[in-house]
Amino acid sequence: MVKAMYVHVPFCDSICAYCDFGRCKMQPQLADRWLTAIERELLKRQLPTAISTLYIGGGTPSALSVKQLDTLLTLLDDYAQQTEEYSVEANPENLSLEKLAVMKAHGVNRISLGVQSFNDQLIKRIERHHDKKRIDQALDQIHEAGIHNISIDLMYGLPDQTIAMLMEDLNLAANDERIKHISIYSLTIEEHSKFGRQKIAPCDNELEGTMYELIVKTLPEYGYQHYEISNFAKPGYESKHNQMYWRYEDYAGIGCGASGKENHIRYDRPFQLLNYLNDEEVFERLELSKSDEMFEFIMMGLRMKQGISLSRFEALFQCSLSDVYASAIHQNIARGWLLIEGDSLRPSEAGMTFLNDVLMAFMD
Ligand code: SF4
Repeated sequence: MVKAMYVHVPFCDSICAYCDFGRCKMQPQLADRWLTAIERELLKRQLPTAISTLYIGGGTPSALSVKQLDTLLTLLDDYAQQTEEYSVEANPENLSLEKLAVMKAHGVNRISLGVQSFNDQLIKRIERHHDKKRIDQALDQIHEAGIHNISIDLMYGLPDQTIAMLMEDLNLAANDERIKHISIYSLTIEEHSKFGRQKIAPCDNELEGTMYELIVKTLPEYGYQHYEISNFAKPGYESKHNQMYWRYEDYAGIGCGASGKENHIRYDRPFQLLNYLNDEEVFERLELSKSDEMFEFIMMGLRMKQGISLSRFEALFQCSLSDVYASAIHQNIARGWLLIEGDSLRPSEAGMTFLNDVLMAFMD
């Protein structure tokens, strides 16, 4: 039974230089048509309403107008009655007290703010449209609206970013009592992004590794637990929605550009906005075999420090993880990358850093 829902808002006010996600430039009339299409999809799919975590991502949900946001959240009200966590992604430059008041009124209790860096020069370099001052105001506004569970996204490995710049970002974020959760990802140069077309060189591997080591060392010193490869949280503020993905629960994906997994089927909703508006059922469906699911369960679960539950694996797949993957588990334990503790198979700190290598053994 689906207990998590992701809704993708495909609009952004401007396009960042590194982005090749499913998004397009905001056009208010298109956004109105998109809202009608979301309503149609929700009616058609008749999903269960007992949803534990609801996540509106993008794109930039805060690029919607106050009225459009209200319409979207009203459409989702039925699914928000039992949510433990209701998150909306927002960018500092287009967030406002009015939009936050609408979110609060509909039960939103977590904001994920697209900060990326506090360094004005770097923010400009990646072609985002806020600055350090605006980040500070947005954090204040979120609190003023009565939403105190705030996550921020940061990036590292940005063009021209030095270790000192990264340290400054980490110190600013970690010293800010308003911020409870930090997701931090390295920049990848995607072929179809502006940076890709400009042939911007990716960050040197060694520098990227040093930056990751610094992040992993610094944030826990400020009380942020490193609970997933790229995610750090103050106790009790771990993302419940993302844990649904990492624990390999089913989730519904709504809107163009969204993905979902339900009843052993992984699907992508139509990627192109016009296909979606025209109700063309152009989407990918992949039936997952038992061995696909066993591997994905491991791949997702080992992203988390707490790892995977051996008894849950057995209950889901009617076989023992230690039997099916005996050789991979032994190899990784011998390398110091995996540990078995009680009912959990979990990665060491080094195992989280070298997760791809850990997983190679499971693929064999
Ligand atoms: S990175 Fe986010 S805000 Fe920037 S263009 Fe892509 S989806 Fe929009």
